[in-house]
Amino acid sequence: MNLIFLGPPGAGKGTQAQRIMRDYGVSQISTGDMLRSHIRQDTDLGRIAAQYINDGNLVPDEVIVEMINKELKYSDTDTGYLLDGFPRTLGQATTLDKMLAEQDDYIDAVLILDVPTQELVKRLSGRRVCQKTGKSFHLEYNPPTEADGVNMEDLIQREDDKEETVLRRLKIYDNETKPLIDYYKKKKIAFKIDGTGKLVDVYNRIKTILNSIHKTKNLKAN
Ligand code: AMP
Repeated sequence: MNLIFLGPPGAGKGTQAQRIMRDYGVSQISTGDMLRSHIRQDTDLGRIAAQYINDGNLVPDEVIVEMINKELKYSDTDTGYLLDGFPRTLGQATTLDKMLAEQDDYIDAVLILDVPTQELVKRLSGRRVCQKTGKSFHLEYNPPTEADGVNMEDLIQREDDKEETVLRRLKIYDNETKPLIDYYKKKKIAFKIDGTGKLVDVYNRIKTILNSIHKTKNLKAN
């Protein structure tokens, strides 16, 4: 099952992606995580990306497309994948379609997490990332548990989660990424999900959709 996770920053894509990976065996491909890993390792790509990310801007399409192309070619995606944070522009979406067509592959569903702007700002300002593992938490809604084995001193606020940058990222989402909803609606693979409320409730809504897709696919295969 190949999925795209769409939604504004702070909608909870990364957190829900962890659960989907666990239960459906798909690999998460997060362009944000990949870029942050490049920045940590101080690669050429990381140095280019850092200036865009820290200002809350999108990294140019050609940089992202090259990075994701390699990932889809060389990583183990036999059991399917969940694209988290990609595509983010119409240019990226059309390029992805071409890349998939060349590999005789396709996207089964686009999950769109819907959360009101006010709530997003609240969520992003409380988000903290473990600088050792890169795992994301929320001080109020999703604090680390003992099982996470995280030291509170290792939790830091992402540079791009500071309020001014957050507002910029949300505006860019509206202008650049939101048009993708119509793009995928026309292809009849878009599913809107209410992203408010408890994490477990949001996940149950996602599961209902994923299970129905699984069923339809199996019926088709039979
Ligand atoms: P995320 O962790 O998905 O919120 O991504 C963090 C930042 O990485 C974004 O604000 C962008 O600057 C950059 N980024 C991640 N994915 C993309 C993408 N598909 N296209 C352009 N920039 C991206």
